[in-house]
Amino acid sequence: MASITLKNIYKKYDHDVTAVEDLNLEIQDKEFIVLVGPSGCGKTTTLRMVAGLEEITQGELYIENRKVNDVAPKDRDIAMVFQNYALYPHMTVYDNMAFGLKIRKMSKEEINDRVINAAKILGIEEYLKRKPRALSGGQRQRVAIGRAIVRDPKVFLMDEPLSNLDAKLRNEMRTEILKLHKRLNTTFIYVTHDQTEAMTLGDRIVIMKDGVVNQVDTPQNVYENPSNVFVAGFIGTPQMNFFEAELSCEDDNYFIIFNGHTINLSKEYVEKFKSKNIKSQPITLGVRPECISITDKLQDSYEINVDVSELMGNEMLIHSRINDNKIVIRSETRYDIKTDHKINISFKWDKIHMFNKETGINLE
Ligand code: ATP
Repeated sequence: MASITLKNIYKKYDHDVTAVEDLNLEIQDKEFIVLVGPSGCGKTTTLRMVAGLEEITQGELYIENRKVNDVAPKDRDIAMVFQNYALYPHMTVYDNMAFGLKIRKMSKEEINDRVINAAKILGIEEYLKRKPRALSGGQRQRVAIGRAIVRDPKVFLMDEPLSNLDAKLRNEMRTEILKLHKRLNTTFIYVTHDQTEAMTLGDRIVIMKDGVVNQVDTPQNVYENPSNVFVAGFIGTPQMNFFEAELSCEDDNYFIIFNGHTINLSKEYVEKFKSKNIKSQPITLGVRPECISITDKLQDSYEINVDVSELMGNEMLIHSRINDNKIVIRSETRYDIKTDHKINISFKWDKIHMFNKETGINLE
């Protein structure tokens, strides 16, 4: 059992850099949690505080209801896998994996059992006698993970473990890590700046910006109900399209005024907005690329010029502009649509997002 609770956690470095601000998070036993966000948002600092490698400036950290702020890293029952693997170059794979156990004065037989078992799980049995330099990046990564597995920790912490691998290997290792989580049945906290990795790995995702948690939710909810413009733009490739528009409320009805058109909002939005007493206001309108259709109808559609069309095989991306706003459309492949063609598009108005223009907060 290893639930983890972070309560009002702050990390301030010298010169008043606030790397993490008032972070609250309850991680369930056996959960796979991913911390994601742009460079410098405080992900690694958060992970290092959980590991005990970084002092907590303020707030409380609990592992299994035990406050561990002042507990040494080695006594936290946690293993960490680093981005650069941190293998000992002069030791064999076997010794790299056995090292931590030897320090803990485990018996030779027990160490051997654990190393062989971990090597089997990771498919690296045949490399046990090699030195790290004689391994590929992917194999080194497995050894780094193996070194964590042998310790049989309650919690696995992983800091961008796949970022040094090429794209193909990264995809493969992603699946391996999911299988590993299932097999080990322990709590994982995983740091990445890659939103695809976050979406595919996490039971829940923690999206951070400038040291502040912006949303904690399942991949599906983060995608479908982003809490603000930042999350909406960060999660999803290609990015959500954003436009300036007006939300107008009259006699209990809500309309969007966008690009010369007035659109009646559907009942679902109206009910939500009414219950929250949302007023007329300038908004940022968010539309995912797949929520725009190419249409033959002229009514309620916008004519655009195809600036670039990218054929991806089973789908295509069309890059264009509405007024001076960039727009990307994801459509099924149409070989008849080429650069500089004029096409008509319409928005799926029941799938849009509306954010307060000033605060960026989702109005729904
Ligand atoms: P990346 O994806 O680039 O690793 P990150 O989200 O993991 O970024 P952190 O490494 O946690 O971000 O850094 C958060 C902030 O704290 C950054 O502004 C960084 O410059 C600052 N910071 C990190 N370590 C220190 C340190 N030892 N001393 C001072 N400031 C630091």
